[in-house]
Amino acid sequence: MVVVMGTDATSEQVDAVVARVVDSGGDAFVSRGVSRTIIGLVGDVDQFHTLDLRGMPGVTDVVRISAPYKLVSRQHHAQMTTVFVGDARVPIGPDTFTLAAGPCAVETPEQTLEAAHMARAAGATLLRGGAYKPRTSPYAFQGLGEAGLRILADVRLETGLPIVTEVVDAHDVELVASYADMLQIGTRNAQNFALLQAAGEVGKPVLLKRGMTATIEEWLMAAEYIAQRGNLDIVLCERGIRTFESATRNTLDISAVPVAHDLSHLPVMVDPSHSGGRRDLVVPLSKAAIAVGADGLLVDVHPHPEAALVDGPQALVNGDLRALAQAVRQLPPLFGRRPADEA
Ligand code: PEP
Ligand code: MN
Repeated sequence: MVVVMGTDATSEQVDAVVARVVDSGGDAFVSRGVSRTIIGLVGDVDQFHTLDLRGMPGVTDVVRISAPYKLVSRQHHAQMTTVFVGDARVPIGPDTFTLAAGPCAVETPEQTLEAAHMARAAGATLLRGGAYKPRTSPYAFQGLGEAGLRILADVRLETGLPIVTEVVDAHDVELVASYADMLQIGTRNAQNFALLQAAGEVGKPVLLKRGMTATIEEWLMAAEYIAQRGNLDIVLCERGIRTFESATRNTLDISAVPVAHDLSHLPVMVDPSHSGGRRDLVVPLSKAAIAVGADGLLVDVHPHPEAALVDGPQALVNGDLRALAQAVRQLPPLFGRRPADEA
C-alpha cells in the first residue's frame, strides 16, 4: 500500500502518517522525489484500512498496489516522473530528450575534456565517464578511482556539464556522491542490494542499468531497493540483455522501454553503446530508442578510440557525431519532446 502526499505536504504531516502506521504495528518507508513524497506501507493491509490515513492532513491518496514493486509502480501515479540532475537541473523525463555522453572510462584530463567537448557538440547536456570500472577481467584497467573523479569535477567546472559516473561498491558511495551529480549503477551490480540501498541513502539521483540477465520485473525490484531507502530520483537504463545472438555484444531490448514506462513512473534511458558494442550500430539504435519513447541516451564517445583503455570499438569519434547530433535534435520534437540541446 502506498500513501501519496500532496505536493505541499509538510514534513510534520509526513511524520504523522508514519507515526500512525508504526503505532499500528506496520512499517513505513518515506520516499522523496522532486515533485512528490510517497510513503510505502508494509504490514497488515486490513489493519491499515482502519487507520483512516486518507483523512489525514496532507494526504492526497492511499493506493493498494498489486505489483511487487510499490514505490516505483505507476499504479499510484499516472504522471511520469522527471528527474533533475546537477546544479544546472538537467531534466530527464517525459517532455525532454536528454543525451548523456562521454568516455566509457576516464583516462586522462585531456582525453576527458576532449570527450566532453565532443559530447556537447553532439547535443549532450550531461557528461558520462567511469572512474571505477567493473571489468570482467581482474587484469584489465579498473579505472583511476578518486583521481578520475577529480578529473571529472575539473571538466565539469570547465564545461558546465553535470557528471554521471559509476559506483561499484557500497563503501564508495559517499565518496563518489561527493563528486558526482548522478550515480550510475552498472549492469553487473544491478542486483547488488547493499549497493542499491547505499545509493538510495546518499541524496543524489541514480541511473540504474538493467542487469544483463534481469527481467523487467527484477529491474524494477532493483529500483525499489533504491526508492525504499528514501530516494525516488531514479532513471532506468536499458543497456541490452544476454541472448543467443553473438553478432552484437548484447541484444538491445527495445520493447523494455514502453513496457517499463507502462509499469513504472520512472524515466527510461537507453545505452546504444554497451548494447550493440559496435560504433556503426549506435546511431540506428539511438533512433530506435527515440522512436520507442525513451527519455534519453547514454552514449560512449572518445577522441582516440583506437587507444581507448576500455570499449574503444563502440565509442563514437568526431566524424560520427554529426549523425548522432542530427538524430537527437531533429527526432525528439516529432514525438512531442524538446531536442537534446534544450534538455
Ligand atoms: C558503462 O556504462 O560504463 C558500463 C560499464 O555499462 P554496463 O554496466 O551497462 O556494462
Ligand atoms: Mn564501457
